[in-house]
Amino acid sequence: MHLFENYPELLAAVSGKEDGSCRVRLAGDATVDTAARENRKTFAQKIGVGYENIVSGDLVHGNTIAVVSKTDAGRVLAGVDGIVTNARGVFLSVTVADCLPVFLYDPVLGNIGLVHCGWRGLSKNIIESATAKMVLDLGSAPHNIRAAIGPGIGVCHFEVQNDVLEKFSKYRDRALKQEGGKTYLDLKRIAHLQLLREGILQDNIETSGECTHCLDSKYFSFRRDKPQVLETMMAVIGFKE
Ligand SMILES: [Zn+2]
Repeated sequence: MHLFENYPELLAAVSGKEDGSCRVRLAGDATVDTAARENRKTFAQKIGVGYENIVSGDLVHGNTIAVVSKTDAGRVLAGVDGIVTNARGVFLSVTVADCLPVFLYDPVLGNIGLVHCGWRGLSKNIIESATAKMVLDLGSAPHNIRAAIGPGIGVCHFEVQNDVLEKFSKYRDRALKQEGGKTYLDLKRIAHLQLLREGILQDNIETSGECTHCLDSKYFSFRRDKPQVLETMMAVIGFKE
């Protein structure tokens, strides 16, 4: 999994199955998963990130984006599926297990963002919400924003029914695959199209070819594993320390 390789100053990473579940639970929640918290700390150390410098979203499949500063480091933000910042020394994190992590970077101003994009978030235009925060709150020009769509469930495995399909009817010709009487939705393609719509340049968008469902030994997949307790990877972006 290599993203943003042309930007060595930046760290953009996703944990793997070998790192254990890195699911975030809000502190104070009685069911907070201490094993997952330890896994998050270990993964942070592995990638050279101070655990205390990470700010995470407590995801709700919505389209709320938080603009954070250094003082938010260490926090878990309730009801937030995307985070952007212009602060140095703070790392942004969301968790995924089929949903896409979409990394954003404006190398001109040094603004970064990370968005949790499942079909629900995409249907609520979460990418528009995130780029709007970078543009309106942090001053980024859309043509300067780089985007990397990370590992997530591919069109090969994301079979959908009408309830999901009807939310993406406008992408019918561009992000749908019919095969064997089944219909599959291409979430990465939809994310790509939404980025283009917000003025991100084609040449500034990269997409991981990795499907979390296909790569059984590498990634957790909610669809494939149907776990009783959700197991997730953590995605992280920030400037290398
Ligand atoms: Zn697949």
